[in-house]
Amino acid sequence: MKLSFRNLRFPVEQARGRRYPEPPHPYRNEFQRDRDRIVHARAFRRLENKTQVFPPGVSDHFRNRLTHTIEVAQIARTVAMVLDLDEDLTEALALSHDIGHPPFAHAGEKELDQEMARFGDRFDHNLHALRIVEQFERRYARFPGLNLTFEVREGMAKHSRDFEPGEFPELDEYLPGLRPPLEAQIIDPADEIAYNTADLDDAYSANLISLDEVCHAVPAYGELLETIQTQYCGASIQVQFRESIRSLIDWLVSGLIEGTVQAVKASGVSSLDDIRRCPRRLVRLTEERERATVALKKYLLRNVYQSEVVRAERERTAGMIPRLFRYYMEDPTRLPVAYAEQLEEVPAHRLVCDYLAGMTDGYLIRIHEQLFGGQGS
Ligand code: MG
Repeated sequence: MKLSFRNLRFPVEQARGRRYPEPPHPYRNEFQRDRDRIVHARAFRRLENKTQVFPPGVSDHFRNRLTHTIEVAQIARTVAMVLDLDEDLTEALALSHDIGHPPFAHAGEKELDQEMARFGDRFDHNLHALRIVEQFERRYARFPGLNLTFEVREGMAKHSRDFEPGEFPELDEYLPGLRPPLEAQIIDPADEIAYNTADLDDAYSANLISLDEVCHAVPAYGELLETIQTQYCGASIQVQFRESIRSLIDWLVSGLIEGTVQAVKASGVSSLDDIRRCPRRLVRLTEERERATVALKKYLLRNVYQSEVVRAERERTAGMIPRLFRYYMEDPTRLPVAYAEQLEEVPAHRLVCDYLAGMTDGYLIRIHEQLFGGQGS
């Protein structure tokens, strides 16, 4: 199956370029180079030691943020390929979509944001991701950061939300008020499909959920499972379950492709400019699959994200970020030299925030243990 949205594809030769001009590569185009730069970045490797949902130690085969990212890239690339969009741009955006996440997932983001609010500032993982690729990665002699193309930076800024002029002054160069290209619009729904199905999978392995309950809460999943059970009645329940996850991913990805085709047709867009000016995003699930997704999310929230095992870990690490934040604010020269030497130009709370946000979960816990003996407050 290949549907041609070729006229809506972002043409790589029209990329606006990099902050620091560079000669072209002999055989990789600009988006391919960006994708490769992300894969080789330190912030990308750190994803391995950042929690997705389940803390490390519960199991050796649950997702972490790195394996989650690879699953998002697989889904996003498939959608881009079928719609004839630019797969390299899509993949670069999928691979970078979570690099701005601080330790301890959303709980950590909230804590950092609260600490920053005391200084009239804020923490936002999308803005942090841009700062990583613009400043913090130091791998090139001629410029700071990864020197990515405008389109990849714009897509990073907009992968999960649109914004109006002035809403985020730091983002004013990234065409506020306009939708991003379809390649960037794929990332958020691909992320959703990846984590909803993966969390269901991991939660089943962790014995947190019963299949009867899932089938009741999400009837569409119940139908998929029933088909699998009829087709493979001799297989073990575990294998039947895994087949049902495969089938659920496929059902949702097909729904994303179909929903996007419908939305593009209904909107009448015929150029990249139309997509940018369209009042809403066009990459979306069909209504039926959106309903199933909403039901699944609701089920996961109650039975997984608010479960005892996930809550216990959150409680164990709660308070570590605020405690470290205040420790470094008390005397910012305690920061590592690379941060402390910027104290004259950059406000201390910003440096402390950058330092903590860049840590992996494991590193933050170790530092906390060294300083305070490992007790959360
Ligand atoms: Mg994600």
